[in-house]
Amino acid sequence: MLFLVRILWLLWLLLPRNRAAPPQTEREDTGVDWLSKFGYLPPPDPVTGQLQTKEALTKAIKAMQKFGGLKETGVFDQATLGLMNTPRCSLPDVPVTEGTIGRRKRSLNTLNTLNKWTKRHLSWRVRTFPKDSALLGRDTVRALMYYALKVWSDIAPLNFHEVAGSDADIQIDFTKADHNDGYPFDGPGGTVAHAFFPGERFTAGDTHFDDDEAWTFRSPDSHGMDLFAVAVHEFGHAIGLVHTSAIESIMRPYYQGPVGDPLKYDLPYEDKVRVWQLYGVRDSVSHTTQPGHRTQTEEPPVLLDLPENRSSVLLVRDSPDRCAGHFDAVAQIRGEAFFFKGKHFWRLTREKNLVSLRPAQIHRFWRGLPQSVDSVDAVYERLGDHKIVFFKGLKYWIFKDNIVEEGYPRPISDFGLPLEGVDAAFVWLHNEKTYFFKDNHYWRYDDHLRRMDLGYPKDSTLWKGLPPQLDDAMRWSDGSSYFFKGKEYWRVPSSDMEAEADYPRLIAKDWLLCTDIQSDSPGASAESTENRVDARPDRAENGYEVCSCTSDTASPLGAQLSPSFLWLLVPFWTLSTLHPMSL
Ligand code: ZN
Ligand code: CA
Ligand code: ZN
Repeated sequence: MLFLVRILWLLWLLLPRNRAAPPQTEREDTGVDWLSKFGYLPPPDPVTGQLQTKEALTKAIKAMQKFGGLKETGVFDQATLGLMNTPRCSLPDVPVTEGTIGRRKRSLNTLNTLNKWTKRHLSWRVRTFPKDSALLGRDTVRALMYYALKVWSDIAPLNFHEVAGSDADIQIDFTKADHNDGYPFDGPGGTVAHAFFPGERFTAGDTHFDDDEAWTFRSPDSHGMDLFAVAVHEFGHAIGLVHTSAIESIMRPYYQGPVGDPLKYDLPYEDKVRVWQLYGVRDSVSHTTQPGHRTQTEEPPVLLDLPENRSSVLLVRDSPDRCAGHFDAVAQIRGEAFFFKGKHFWRLTREKNLVSLRPAQIHRFWRGLPQSVDSVDAVYERLGDHKIVFFKGLKYWIFKDNIVEEGYPRPISDFGLPLEGVDAAFVWLHNEKTYFFKDNHYWRYDDHLRRMDLGYPKDSTLWKGLPPQLDDAMRWSDGSSYFFKGKEYWRVPSSDMEAEADYPRLIAKDWLLCTDIQSDSPGASAESTENRVDARPDRAENGYEVCSCTSDTASPLGAQLSPSFLWLLVPFWTLSTLHPMSL
């Protein structure tokens, strides 16, 4: 890790400087990190501490652009940064072996022949199921696994059969956080699944899904992670396939959304050819006559449009449009910005880059917030102990990291606030006091002494240029305070109590990556918004998700793993929905 840091620092020194745009270097650092993680740049050599030259960097960027179907400019242009922030598999696109350029020449084809099953009958078992069965029931999960495996066994001489015991070749788990294989999951978003290549190890073929994801089935593109699509991709790895840059392939490294009805899904030709290269073409007669194994005559499971799927449809319908209307609450938490709306929220990195177009669900992230809370009024991170305070109506909750503290909710009268609720709450960097706004009044609270300062409330017009009845306010890392109401926001610099002259500005445009702001039309859907905001014309075809942001976390992969071990594990689709919070 230290060497990576050192190399990134040296690279930073080598790169052309642009003082007018300081985020550029952060983007380049992130870009170099990304290129190393996915195999385009050699990982740092702990022996020689070998540096990346400018030429090597240009070459690596071009290779990445070629693999991703972009114009080969050799620089981190907007399209390249966008693709780098697209949800994708964490598996490298280019083999990462022992760290030096000369030894990275092993081709994907060579790897393919090294990673396949010698047997043709493989057992599978779903060992653990999603904890939150509101979205997908057990039978549906098992059926989806059955059909995702059948996609491969329909065309290749492989036979999958479900077993009850613990010695299945392909153990399937829905698990979260650290699950004892050295590859912890990371909460909603980020890494959403991984699988192990074929081989002799007992983990070979095992497939893990992050139970913090909103797994869905027959749900529109805009919501959740399609379990069938992810499973088909993962099982491709589990039988030995690596990533491809082919335009039509389930093994593309980038998440492509749902792939249609599991009962009718037909693999793209590219994938068929690659699995035929590994195992040959299926002889549909011989496979049923293997002695000692169950044949494929067992009844296929039924995939109904179960009542349980209604909830995901409802969730989609409930999913708000980030480009229209107001936000219930806005807060800076651990340096990042959180925009809350209804039961959802969006997250922006410290560099003010939207992490994902898709909102996350508050109840899936903020553990312990009651389901009955369908929106929040105001949120702020407390100075001192960095706990996060949520207000709704006359109640408040305190979260340590993303888990609610014992004994909450409590009445807001604890703060000395009136029994009318709170519009806005934020910490003013100028004096480190917490300010609450309600209608035309504001209060100043001392979070160190846990008491309201004397002489409050005061008239909110003392803050010049701000409207009454705010939606929320937050401090931001530029030292300014930001106030939000409706579709607009105001900036109040440092210790001033007056909004800057050229405000209000549009929240959606400046924070939420909306390029073409339209009036609040009742029919505006999340999909139309995504199309509207998308600057890249190929999104619909390739399933790209646009995000002009830079990834804010150094990957634990690539940075900490032994490079050769990367081949044994195939983490899937690093969603940039939510990076692990170091809360
Ligand atoms: Zn993959
Ligand atoms: Ca995750
Ligand atoms: Zn795992």
